[in-house]
Amino acid sequence: MNIAIDGPAGAGKSTIAKLVADKKGFIYVDTGAMYRSIALYIIENDIDSDNDDAVKAACDNIDIKIKYVDRVQHIYLNDEDVSTTIRREEVGNMASKVATKKVVREKLLNLQRELAASNDVIMDGRDIGTFVLPNAELKIYLTASVYTRAKRRFDQLVEKGETPDLGKIEEDIEKRDYQDMHRDIAPLKQAEDAILIDTSDMTIEEVVDKIISLI
Ligand code: C5P
Repeated sequence: MNIAIDGPAGAGKSTIAKLVADKKGFIYVDTGAMYRSIALYIIENDIDSDNDDAVKAACDNIDIKIKYVDRVQHIYLNDEDVSTTIRREEVGNMASKVATKKVVREKLLNLQRELAASNDVIMDGRDIGTFVLPNAELKIYLTASVYTRAKRRFDQLVEKGETPDLGKIEEDIEKRDYQDMHRDIAPLKQAEDAILIDTSDMTIEEVVDKIISLI
């Protein structure tokens, strides 16, 4: 079975998808991590992300592998486990930039479809229901207000001991939403057959229960 979860940054997709995957014995596939890994390579190698030829050349030098350790996804960029490094905010913002490029999206598409073809997966991203897995048995579009999403990210960062700026997080989220929804290829939008869940006033448990009942 394939379940697609799409939605904007910070809607809770990964938290929810992981919990549902654990309860149902599915594999959770975080496709954002794949875009983030390419973004990390671009940042670390000082590549101009506006230069299409440079991004294409980078893609040719990038090998991305996904492995599961105790059912948790680990992502390898040229054989280095980058699962933690890719979580940085600047990597997320760069991911949104490079995700507009056809060469980047094409590189990741096969990997995503292969994982879904050989496993029961719950896959989250921006274009899973609309493009990557159009035949997924269940499609969810998970969203929440910009403020709710920014506040959740703010709280996570505070918990990690950082001193984030809520206004700046809101701004980044709005910018990322705009970029993801307005790009030419595979923009973020709700698939026609996706079920909309607005998590602004829901607890994590309520969302998980709702999806389990839909499954
Ligand atoms: O979900 P996450 O914040 O990790 O994703 C980082 C960025 O990767 C998103 O803002 C989006 O631009 C891009 N992405 C995408 N398609 C996906 C998953 C992520 O374009 N399926």
